[in-house]
Amino acid sequence: MCPKCRTAIEDGAEAPGPIVCRRCGATASRSADAFEFGGLTEAEEQEDWLNDVKARAKRRLGRLYPLALEALGPVYGDSGITRFLAGFDLDRELVCDLGAGTRSYDDKVVCVDGYGYQTVHLRTDLTSLPFADGSISGVLSEAVLEHVPDPAKHVDEIFRVLKPGGRVHCYFPFIAGFHASPHDYTRLTLPGLRRLFHRFDVDSTIVAGGPTSGLVWTLQEWLAIAGSFGSERLYRALVPVTWVLSPLKYLDALLIRHPAAHVIASGFALEATKPLGAAPASVEARVHAPESA
Ligand SMILES: [Zn+2]
Repeated sequence: MCPKCRTAIEDGAEAPGPIVCRRCGATASRSADAFEFGGLTEAEEQEDWLNDVKARAKRRLGRLYPLALEALGPVYGDSGITRFLAGFDLDRELVCDLGAGTRSYDDKVVCVDGYGYQTVHLRTDLTSLPFADGSISGVLSEAVLEHVPDPAKHVDEIFRVLKPGGRVHCYFPFIAGFHASPHDYTRLTLPGLRRLFHRFDVDSTIVAGGPTSGLVWTLQEWLAIAGSFGSERLYRALVPVTWVLSPLKYLDALLIRHPAAHVIASGFALEATKPLGAAPASVEARVHAPESA
């Protein structure tokens, strides 16, 4: 549906070609294997120096980028995505990875992102999704919500597009350095993450990025800051050098299960279900957002 006026789009045209909303005139396009409903600008991508480096690495490495990040990055953990996806029949049920970047957990998962990477099926602004109410069975949101200006608004969109009984898997960072992609706004504690999904039935929350990961990330940044004597150029050069400490993260194989791990955890994973009795999105919107009525 049209992400601007929420009218159903009847698209019988052959790809590639334009898509035009008959009500508001908003336009989108489709190629042989992707839809484009706007998204983020290149200027935003280049605003932050590290994000600019990462964006170029993403374009060059494609699907290998998430593996490189896993190997070189400071975060160790398992947020349980493989098990979560195993709960869906991906031949029949629509599961979307919102903010997929160059990740692809399964060829049948629809990859949605603000940028048109090669693996992305649908490029769009994440705060206003071109999906009909109650049309999706599953949503993945992995380390994405800290990058949208208003996480609660985005969670409302996830709630709207999910079918009653549909499920969401979300990873949200807690102790993590600033990392624009292309922006970075928020961190949440474990109770804060549960509260963010208050309209859902929360099925589980776990520490998915361990306490050592939180420490290593901040230690790496501290070393680059302390060792660069006020020079931003030296700081930028030192950041990749500090990655030699990243293997310390594997201590989290032991520490991630500690009862107090959440106190300085690098991040949390939440699984939640949209209640079966949830009122239709349009009614909810009137109840929860009187200012838009
Ligand atoms: Zn429209």
